[in-house]
Amino acid sequence: GLAIGIVGLPNVGKSTLFNAITRAGALAANYPFATIEPNVGRVTVPDERLAALSRVFTKGERVPPIIPTFVEFVDIAGLVKGASKGEGLGNQFLANIREVDAIAHVVRCFEDGNVIHVAGRVDPIDDIETINTELILADLGGLEKRLQNLQKKAKGNDKDAKEQAELAEQIIAVLSEGKPARAGTYDAPIPKEFGLITTKPVIYVANVGEDNLTEDNAYVRQVREYAAAEGAQVVKISAQIEGELAEMPEDEARAFLEELGVQESGLDQLVKVGYDTLGLITFITSGEKEVRAWTIRRGEKAPEAAGEIHSDLERGFIRAEVIEWDKMVEAGGWAGAKSKGWVRTEGKEYVMKDGDIMNVLHNM
Ligand code: GDP
Repeated sequence: GLAIGIVGLPNVGKSTLFNAITRAGALAANYPFATIEPNVGRVTVPDERLAALSRVFTKGERVPPIIPTFVEFVDIAGLVKGASKGEGLGNQFLANIREVDAIAHVVRCFEDGNVIHVAGRVDPIDDIETINTELILADLGGLEKRLQNLQKKAKGNDKDAKEQAELAEQIIAVLSEGKPARAGTYDAPIPKEFGLITTKPVIYVANVGEDNLTEDNAYVRQVREYAAAEGAQVVKISAQIEGELAEMPEDEARAFLEELGVQESGLDQLVKVGYDTLGLITFITSGEKEVRAWTIRRGEKAPEAAGEIHSDLERGFIRAEVIEWDKMVEAGGWAGAKSKGWVRTEGKEYVMKDGDIMNVLHNM
């Protein structure tokens, strides 16, 4: 699955947002995961296609359960100004943030005299730069240590070490200019084991009060401008409202959103933008037993997608039966779809598309 780490200065609304996430996850139907670490919450990816398919495969009283795919949010505490100096960022912090695929950077865009701002005033750009500087310094510190080791190895005529040392030097040059690693262009792809944070895509989460959900205030406009210059996306939410929404049954939540004048909850938007940012798509397995969504990367081929279901299915993959979800709805089930000739047989080179229903034929 996809994991998004939540970072931001203290008092910007991270915990409020994270609590909304865990509550939303706990209330979601068919919540298949019982044990979750305290700093990890799961939000299902909203997908209306699944309900339509569940209706198609309903037989009398037997309604196939819907198992949506989900996004994991990781609450990454411990980031304050100066955190990367002295003792450095805590090991727990680094371990947590290195595991995530993307970063949701929460920025305070609400005014509230009762909520103290760590820098004494609301200034989203200054806040963003404070956090970004800490992340850059953390990468710089880690990479400089790695470079020393690589240079030692390179002296022993280790060719890989020599190439990696050169790459590390290129990245260090970018970081030293105060830029995130993702802003540079390099001779080679950055290996995962470099453990860099600033290679990860960032989504800015502008946390506003209820009044600014429909209309941007000046702070949100500043964040949008800053993000646009970086090519990053912005999701505007109200962490407080998300907390309230997470407590409501679905129909009540929908009415509340309508009242607020917004189409979908901030969490749903965040999930969608996360999907988009990381180039993810959904494919579906569907029948009378269950209707289930799976997350894969755009461009993945059928065997890799099968491996998402079970690693045996990737190894034993022979071919797949594939049909678009809406064709399945129209045909009213597998038998109907087959008799209409809408079920295609695809081989190992087939590139999966969003909304494909797949049935894997295998020799396991
Ligand atoms: P964290 O330190 O980033 O985790 O921040 P918290 O989630 O603990 O929020 C800090 C304070 O800001 C709490 O008192 C929240 O109730 C309040 N807060 C969070 N979001 C909003 C918001 O959208 N509007 C207002 N007025 N207060 C908020």
